[in-house]
Amino acid sequence: MLQPSCVHCCHISIVAMAEGGCGESQKPATVFDFLSKIVRLLQDEEALQPRRNDQVVQFQHPRELQELLPLALNKDPLPDDDIVEACRQVIKYSVKTNHPYFFNQLYGGVDMYGLAGTWISESLNTNQYTFEVGPAFTLVEHAVLTHTLNMFGLANGDGIFCPGGSISNMYGIVLARYKKVPDIKTKGLSSAPPLVAFTSDDGHYSMLKAAHWLGLGTDNMIKVKSDNEGRMIPSELVACIQKALKAGKQPFFVNATAGTTVLGAFDPFEALADICTEYHLWLHVDACWGGSLMLSKKFSSVLKGISRADSISWNPHKMLGAPLQCSAFLVREKGLLHHSNAAAAHYLFQQDKFYDISYDTGDKSVQCGRKVDALKLWLMWKARGDSGLEKVVDNAMECARYFCDRIRNRPGFRLVIPEFQCTNTCFWYIPPRLRNQEETPEWWEKVNSVAPKIKERLVLAGCLMIGYTPLSHKGIKNFFRMVVTCQPPATVEDMDYVIEKIEEYAIDIV
Ligand SMILES: *Cc1c(COP(=O)(O)O)cnc(C)c1O
Repeated sequence: MLQPSCVHCCHISIVAMAEGGCGESQKPATVFDFLSKIVRLLQDEEALQPRRNDQVVQFQHPRELQELLPLALNKDPLPDDDIVEACRQVIKYSVKTNHPYFFNQLYGGVDMYGLAGTWISESLNTNQYTFEVGPAFTLVEHAVLTHTLNMFGLANGDGIFCPGGSISNMYGIVLARYKKVPDIKTKGLSSAPPLVAFTSDDGHYSMLKAAHWLGLGTDNMIKVKSDNEGRMIPSELVACIQKALKAGKQPFFVNATAGTTVLGAFDPFEALADICTEYHLWLHVDACWGGSLMLSKKFSSVLKGISRADSISWNPHKMLGAPLQCSAFLVREKGLLHHSNAAAAHYLFQQDKFYDISYDTGDKSVQCGRKVDALKLWLMWKARGDSGLEKVVDNAMECARYFCDRIRNRPGFRLVIPEFQCTNTCFWYIPPRLRNQEETPEWWEKVNSVAPKIKERLVLAGCLMIGYTPLSHKGIKNFFRMVVTCQPPATVEDMDYVIEKIEEYAIDIV
């Protein structure tokens, strides 16, 4: 028995029709009935705006969580109310990254306009590769990339949205290599000289993965020493380049970092650009984390010289709060992305289409299907403007500065470096019982176990999530890495809360 509303059904209901008509189905008449239940659920569970006295996480160990979640898939359909309940359980045991006390990662809560953007692009479910199937999204991507290129000072450049910063960084290496050895595309690595690339020892590990995946080998991603505050030392880079040349290798690529993952350091881009010019090397800037400071007049000076880069990676899904994933790869030279990556698949990029095929951007990508990641950033930027984004970045930086100043001379707290360039603040907490002792290697071993212990207690209590790490290559033992992101906008009271909770949960640690 067909009901008139069936013509508006989503495909779920069409399946139901095929099985005997909407009237007999448990499924709702329209996709909106179901989606509004889900929106209500998100609201009930306060997933998008958790209150400060809610838990950040209700942690369960994997085996226990396996029992708590309705994981098994069933032969027959379930009524929607059961589905909503299953979703409730998933939400219940998920980490609330939108919580004001989630400081665990370089990303945090989601920007509401970004979320709306992602809902729209997911709903329209299409690919970014041709104008044919993504006409509006193609132009949106172009518009937001143009604005971004201008912001970074690569006005005549090109760009593409990638599934994450690790992939964006790989694009940088691929383009640099193609530029140096164009034959690499057809003849492969065995036809090329032994290529070497450089990054700092505080740079992101994606460089190592890229070296493996792209066939360079991790030994040929040379780690240049950084100074005590995490910035690549230019004279060390020169020494590494000369050593590689003496060994008969072919240097081609330098990765500089704008906002290192742990210390938040910015490499000296002007000096590195001079070296790259002298040795004819490609300068890529991994601005995945710190690139968002570009939006701030007050805090962008650390990025001075970034406009001399040949390519840049930037993750709006980190500090800025664009929904995961949103990563832009930018390149100075127009046309290179296309030449380097094009494979000219005839079934997709027909050359005899009836519209201007220069709007088919898909052949610039290593992917075939590509998610629409541009709309969410475009919508955020449209809604907030340059000035609105600047405001949330400034707030994150100011809260981070406040935090750093508050712990600078506070008993038990000790900064890993005196000043931080990004919203990172790295510090040890020395519990009362470990204070005023000789700082022997044994003492440091004890300090090493403090952060993991406090972290465990905080997570089990669900009251705060904050990261910790050692910096082993610098001989530095475990410390906390506090990071502030833009969403939800932090307050100075939140910073005080972090300090108080660490003190409270460390009181009896030996
Ligand atoms: C996070 C990060 C990356 C990797 O980005 P993903 O999107 O997680 O792949 C690269 N570089 C730096 C400096 C980062 O902080």
